[in-house]
Amino acid sequence: MIYIKNAKAVLEDSILDNAVLQIKDDRIVKVGTEESIPIPSGTPCIDAEGAYIGPGFVDIHVHGGNGTMFFEAPTRTAKHFLMHGETTVLPTLYYDLPKAEFLEAIARIQSAMKSPGGESIAGFYMEGPYMNPKYGACADKNCWSGEIRLQDYHELVDRAGSDAKVWAVAPEREGIEDFVKYAKEVYPDAAISVGHSEANPDQIAALKPYGLALQTHCMNATGQNSDWLGTRGCGPDEACLLDDDMYAEIISDSMGIHINPHLQKLILKVKGTDKVILITDSFAGDGEPPENLSHVTDLTFDSNGNLCGSRLTMDAAVRNVMKHTDCSIVQAFRMASYNPARAIGMDKEIGSISPGKKANLVFLDSDLQIKKVMLNGIVQ
Ligand SMILES: [Zn+2]
Repeated sequence: MIYIKNAKAVLEDSILDNAVLQIKDDRIVKVGTEESIPIPSGTPCIDAEGAYIGPGFVDIHVHGGNGTMFFEAPTRTAKHFLMHGETTVLPTLYYDLPKAEFLEAIARIQSAMKSPGGESIAGFYMEGPYMNPKYGACADKNCWSGEIRLQDYHELVDRAGSDAKVWAVAPEREGIEDFVKYAKEVYPDAAISVGHSEANPDQIAALKPYGLALQTHCMNATGQNSDWLGTRGCGPDEACLLDDDMYAEIISDSMGIHINPHLQKLILKVKGTDKVILITDSFAGDGEPPENLSHVTDLTFDSNGNLCGSRLTMDAAVRNVMKHTDCSIVQAFRMASYNPARAIGMDKEIGSISPGKKANLVFLDSDLQIKKVMLNGIVQ
């Protein structure tokens, strides 16, 4: 048994001052104040020295970082993000991988999940393979732009199995319904997301019976079609804003390049902080930034100079979204921990500071810089 004292605990709806947490093995047992949870003398105790303690971040959409892609070096990449408070990550596989490399990436990450150092890896986010080739970085490397055929995808879906927590698809692709049906047969709890798409609300609604409940990076790599010149169409961004059941992923970089700060505010205003998920979409790309963005350090570019994810970590994304939208730290943690845990059906285990959940915690100073990270009850 260990205790944490003298903390400002970031709970689901409030901050608890003078908080004490009782932890046994890898679980939170009790959460209260110094008055309600007396600490027996001689028991191991971590003094948080007035720091914020929040639930470990859950980054469901992260390709790589610190120079490597997740599929190249899973445990090393997981460690990089863990030290930034990401106690749960879903390594993300993109449509630029041909089938053989996709299968290899799945196998390498699955083996890391069972190895020391892979404890924070909870499965995959499949950003593809079937997206609209018109949208997204590395458009020229889309190996999956042809016909959607069972013989091409079944091995991918079978091998990923219940580790594929999210499948992102472009609903307008012909044959996508059979693909989604198959993915749900293999793993009924998989979440379906609309991404890299210009689908209209009807095409998106057609996939709702299969569990479509997310939008992949809202306002990035999406489009819309209009029947009339001079009018605005209704694509995935608008469909997501309209649909109360859907979560919107957002990338909040320091300059508000992925999403203009006014648009971040708009998304929060319409969706509420209960239905927004912060993601890093961090990528280990080596493309050169265009000249006017050469001073920005938290973005990644592809070989054509197009925006290709970020170099964010979730602690930075939390600081950014608070700066851009004036949301509170409690709301920021909902978007960085609780909502993503709910979206992938893991909120019984992780996502908030509650008795019975995993002792995955992040300690932040008053500037919201990381002081300490705890994973499964162990300080890293
Ligand atoms: Zn991505």
